Amino acid sequence: MLRLPSFTYRQPRTLAEALRMKGDAGPDAMFVAGGTDLYPNMKRRHQEPGTVISLMGIPELRKMERGNVGTCVTLSSLSTFPSFQHSAVATAARLVSTPLLRNMGTLGGNLCLDTRCNYYNQSYEWRKSIDFCMKKDGAICWVAPSSPRCWAVSSSDVAPVMVAIGAEYRLLGPQGERVVPAGRFYHNDGINYLTKQPDEILVDVRLPVPNGWDAVYHKLRRRGSFDFPVLGVAAWIRWDGKSVGDARVVLGGVASYPQEIPEAATALTGQPLTDDAIAAAAEAAYRPSKPMDNTDFELSWRKQMTRVYVKRALEELRARHQ
Ligand SMILES: Cc1cc2nc3c(=O)[nH]c(=O)nc-3n(C[C@H](O)[C@H](O)[C@H](O)COP(=O)(O)OP(=O)(O)OC[C@H]3O[C@@H](n4cnc5c(N)ncnc54)[C@H](O)[C@@H]3O)c2cc1C
Ligand code: SF4
Repeated sequence: MLRLPSFTYRQPRTLAEALRMKGDAGPDAMFVAGGTDLYPNMKRRHQEPGTVISLMGIPELRKMERGNVGTCVTLSSLSTFPSFQHSAVATAARLVSTPLLRNMGTLGGNLCLDTRCNYYNQSYEWRKSIDFCMKKDGAICWVAPSSPRCWAVSSSDVAPVMVAIGAEYRLLGPQGERVVPAGRFYHNDGINYLTKQPDEILVDVRLPVPNGWDAVYHKLRRRGSFDFPVLGVAAWIRWDGKSVGDARVVLGGVASYPQEIPEAATALTGQPLTDDAIAAAAEAAYRPSKPMDNTDFELSWRKQMTRVYVKRALEELRARHQ
């Protein structure tokens, strides 16, 4: 059985108190929300904070308004809130893992989720037996041994949707507050995968008014009841009558960040969403989709599925607009 290492647990009641606790404990402290990612990681010694600061007792982080969602709202609430109009966000939240994990797991934890890799998401002993890897405790990347970087995969279901719909994240740190577009919150690097500083709290997510646009999310995984995405497709369209005024297609599970595909948007914009336009966008997304051999399924099949899933997502958007 994997055991948690010992650590000090702090429970602030306000954001100011949480920041003060983090400042006092320094780099040895981490924030936790639902703990469904951090605690398993701590059991495998991926992260080893001496102090864990829970954000769950801070009321400001649990608010849920139409256009503004606190990051400690659980995925279950996000997927079932009756007047919640952002259906792609709700769909992505509902597709995360199992009901138990969605009851604990939060929006903020999902958006800050650690990147994943078959050589990393293993016990300490397993990782030690291969002399570790550069993401934690080692020097080499076992997926691409001559590579100077880590290729661990962004595996959040909700993050690609936030990038696609153009959501904004509000962060609070010792230097004050800042708001970043979701697309600028992520780096294509398996180790430094967030632009967030370790002492910044992701406070809330500002969702654009659902006005003339629609978005969908489709997910590929082995077990529909449980697994992480090995491919996620978030597609967003702003309609201009029957034509596509603007579009975004974002892939999850194929890079270290939610990967926006501008070529797919170009293939869609300024014309009706015909079969030909959809096929061109699916082809445009297929080419830069370069999954690595470090998650589930055969690599070339996952790449092929990009075409299929982009097509399905766009066809759903078209059907909803008719
Ligand atoms: C078996 C299993 C299956 C899973 N399947 C999926 C899946 O299909 N799809 C998916 O997307 N995820 C999946 N997950 C991962 C996880 O359960 C979810 O992503 C969940 O939303 C994480 O939220 P949390 O609140 O538990 O995060 P935590 O574990 O509390 O935190 C995760 C990270 O985010 C940081 N963090 C959390 N909140 C904040 C904040 N407000 N500000 C700053 N930093 C913060 C923490 O410091 C930590 O680094 C799975 C997990 C397990 C164990
Ligand atoms: S991609 Fe390479 S460095 Fe990154 S976790 Fe996997 S094996 Fe380690």
